[in-house]
Amino acid sequence: MNSKFTQDCDDSGETDAGFDDFGFSTRAIHEPFHSSRNSGAHRRDELVMARNATAFGKGGEVAAFNAADNHAQSATHILENKLAHLEGAEAGLVLASGLAAFSTLARTLLSEGDEMIVHKPVCTETAALMETTLSQAGIRMVPVDLSVPCNIHRSVTHRTRLVYFETPTNPLSDILDISAIAECSRAHGVKIAVDSTFASPALQRPLEHGADIVLQSLTKYINGHGDTRGGAVLGEAAIVQKLRETSLRYRHATAISAQASFLILRGLQTLALRMDRHSSAAHAIALALEAHPAVAWVRYPLLESHPNYALARRQMSGGSGMLAFGLRAGRDGARAMISRLRLISSGVNLAEVGSLICHSASLTSTRHLSLEASDLCDTLGEDVIRCSVGLEDAEDLIEDIWQALDFE
Ligand SMILES: *Cc1c(COP(=O)(O)O)cnc(C)c1O
Repeated sequence: MNSKFTQDCDDSGETDAGFDDFGFSTRAIHEPFHSSRNSGAHRRDELVMARNATAFGKGGEVAAFNAADNHAQSATHILENKLAHLEGAEAGLVLASGLAAFSTLARTLLSEGDEMIVHKPVCTETAALMETTLSQAGIRMVPVDLSVPCNIHRSVTHRTRLVYFETPTNPLSDILDISAIAECSRAHGVKIAVDSTFASPALQRPLEHGADIVLQSLTKYINGHGDTRGGAVLGEAAIVQKLRETSLRYRHATAISAQASFLILRGLQTLALRMDRHSSAAHAIALALEAHPAVAWVRYPLLESHPNYALARRQMSGGSGMLAFGLRAGRDGARAMISRLRLISSGVNLAEVGSLICHSASLTSTRHLSLEASDLCDTLGEDVIRCSVGLEDAEDLIEDIWQALDFE
């Protein structure tokens, strides 16, 4: 038999080395093989039971399944293992949302008086959390432009505990150089955490570029169907163990439900397939938009006009489904265009099967975030339209956008 299947290792629960030789899609579908066959088989049986409980339960019975703690442990445990393998991390912790994952990380690694270097901008929800909860806990956010990585040298103090940034950034898809930032941070012994939600591990694996910690909002591409929430912190076993031991997830009620873990595991199985399709459709739409006379600008990592195009090519294996653009008709044009769309829905979520679009300035004001007052968000242009390209036929999406642009 193939050595991948027969190789033994100790009883620590570590997986066979051979599993890592499989391709990304295979590892997203199958579980790592365990040296202790019984425990591996046991976990699989539990997942099958979880699956049955979900399939048979119409409403009420699903709650019964949630209460079955063994199963809860099991689905979440499998998800944590799988995500860690896909990112190339030693370990992972899964929580109720992406924001919960970031909050748990920050609250565990930093205490009162500590500083976190943050690339501006960050996603509006993360910025709101930083400015309320974390500030109240005495944790200081230090906004730094990390598009110039050596800016870190000027901003580090003896209280700096973490460098945190998104790449690609939400909503403009700026790309930051993970390995250059990691090198500058390492010179000061400071860890870096990368929010890789816009790319997912199918397109970008920050740990391979020198990051210490990866954050994922599982709500987005990894689940991919817009029907549940989740978040993950992935990285060194010692850090993940520390997050687990603080039990903040129980005190802050951010533990994930078994039902959510089950749905995310199911979504994860098709991640690579979906990302290919999201990426090719978004690239086609970005190119078409760039050629449209009503369009003022387009931002997509794999457009040659993107300021970080070469870096994006180096760091990511695809552009993902997220793009941003602005119209010559500005804010009013954006609102008029969005209201005329027939196929693409207006919505604030992203990374779903169906395409979603939103006017970013309206989104931040409905969330009562005053961007002007914030140190952590860039003041976005009033014209920014963010589109999460779904899995429909690209020609249909382009046709929908074209008819909507015809508003003058
Ligand atoms: C949505 C999002 C988050 C927050 O994740 P939730 O699961 O919605 O809490 C964090 N970072 C990025 C880049 C996101 O897009």
